[in-house]
Amino acid sequence: MTLTRTKDILADLIAFETVSADSNLEIIRFLTNHLQTLGARCIETRDETGKKANVFATLGPDIPGGILLSGHTDVVPVADQDWTSDPFEMVERDGRLYGRGTCDMKGFIAASLAFAEALDVEKLTQPLHFAFTYDEETGCLGAQNLVNDLSERGIVPDIAIIGEPTEMRVIEGHKGCFEYTTRFTGLEGHSSAPDDGVNAAEYAARYVSKLLELRHVLKSRAPAGNLFEPPWTTINVGFFNGGVAHNVIASKAEIGWEMRPVQASDADLVNQTLSDYVTHTLLPEMQAVHPEASITQDVVAEVQGLEPMEDNAARKLVAELTGANGTGTVAFATEAGLFQQLGVHAIVCGPGSITQAHRADEYVEIEQLDLCCRMLDRLGRRLTA
Ligand SMILES: [Zn+2]
Repeated sequence: MTLTRTKDILADLIAFETVSADSNLEIIRFLTNHLQTLGARCIETRDETGKKANVFATLGPDIPGGILLSGHTDVVPVADQDWTSDPFEMVERDGRLYGRGTCDMKGFIAASLAFAEALDVEKLTQPLHFAFTYDEETGCLGAQNLVNDLSERGIVPDIAIIGEPTEMRVIEGHKGCFEYTTRFTGLEGHSSAPDDGVNAAEYAARYVSKLLELRHVLKSRAPAGNLFEPPWTTINVGFFNGGVAHNVIASKAEIGWEMRPVQASDADLVNQTLSDYVTHTLLPEMQAVHPEASITQDVVAEVQGLEPMEDNAARKLVAELTGANGTGTVAFATEAGLFQQLGVHAIVCGPGSITQAHRADEYVEIEQLDLCCRMLDRLGRRLTA
């Protein structure tokens, strides 16, 4: 019975303390061994420190296409959260499984492994792929690395199911999430002689004004009939720091801002417009007074959105498997957009609710895991028919 196996495997997965800041090599070794025992061909990709890894595994025939089940192995921290029981020891209470990652998203990974065990691999008519990644919670860094590697190898599955918690609803879209910190360095001086200095706070303010102008442009670019709420790309200035005193020209300022694009072309437009503004207007003015003045930018995250597509084979397949009547969008970002950019038809569908994720006493309902197992069981029958 795959539900029982799913619970057993989930208990094992929860015991790996895979908070994003720490190495995930142990859980990747566990997953790789597990899949290799079933006959999978595995590819590992690592980050530059060598302490984080993805595994991409394939069962079945060595031909193009196939179905991909994808999940991230990292979890958010438990520090400063008040847990009833040890977050890294799975506990069953009242039809729920408690533990960090039960819902987001080791439950889906456990169900995928139990599904693979129960499958008659010899009978697979198309490849069945698994992608288990690192650093999703810190900006989908692992999946980006994995997708680059797959692209180089020419591996493009037909369909991807990203098992983030959607209460098993079929989600065909989410906005992207692009976060930046932009830093301005000018020249300090006495406030009584503004022309002798370069006021970083004032240049930062002009940069923010440009962002606000773009906000209006973006509203007018919302694709007709799109499902997002609000239906356009949004911009937010999250923090703005700079300067030291009333009577001193501010030599440093920084802005933390983000945009949530509904389409990739919006993100390109924003970044191009700002880059032109910096290169052709702000920097030349700053450097005319002080050649060392600078504007630099840290990319905190650039998570691609999942754009709803009229013809999405993944949506069609998973709607049939789950019996879902409709599809929807969600307000959180996932790895699905990266797979879509690779050319894969992708959707998000997994057990548990996002409202149970990231909090103390995170849990997944056993009933949700059961629904997931049933969906995968139906998938298995199709793939081995
Ligand atoms: Zn997640």
